[in-house]
Amino acid sequence: MNFLEERIVKDGVVKAGNVLKVDSFLNHQMDIALLEEIGKEFKRRFGHKKITKVLTIEASGIGIACFVAKEFGVPMVFAKKTVSINIDGEMLVTEVESFTHKNKNRVIVAKRFISPDDHVLIIDDFLANGCALQGLISIAESAGATVEGLGIAIEKGFQFGGRAIRNLGYDLESLAIVESMDDTTGEIVFAPQK
Ligand code: 5GP
Repeated sequence: MNFLEERIVKDGVVKAGNVLKVDSFLNHQMDIALLEEIGKEFKRRFGHKKITKVLTIEASGIGIACFVAKEFGVPMVFAKKTVSINIDGEMLVTEVESFTHKNKNRVIVAKRFISPDDHVLIIDDFLANGCALQGLISIAESAGATVEGLGIAIEKGFQFGGRAIRNLGYDLESLAIVESMDDTTGEIVFAPQK
């Protein structure tokens, strides 16, 4: 098991409805040393590519994306779920269905922050059905940017998002792929890492 899988086994909690709670270390209370290690691991996996920007979606992707952006020495941009009065100029807009909240959000990025010259690395904490990633891909590509890769902390391999995105030809790397999990026993099984 890698460092993230070990931490998931130690502190993750399996909930009914295919939800894995990792809020004690990843997306509510955050273990900064772990986030730093995640940032370094994505640099190791995508470091051979030219990355000019890291893109994520608020809120829970932001922490991880900051550490990835620091490793690459590039800005991090996050898609916002509400139209803030502070955003001006043209916007890139898409709709994303939330896995955890079961509602649809309009997510936006100011057009001036992603340009056709950008080589984007998309980062998020979880991959379930792939709606969040599809939305981020659509935002980057509507700006004319190149999606160089997608980095996910935890992919739930028994849901279809990962397969759909790999089938579209994108370079998707997940640090932990949950093959199965059981909310009655708490058991979590990971897919073998390459
Ligand atoms: P997707 O769009 O791939 O269906 O779901 C990904 C988004 O839903 C992620 O941004 C994440 O915030 C949330 N999510 C999906 N599954 C889980 C889960 O099992 N646990 C937690 N904490 N968040 C999840």
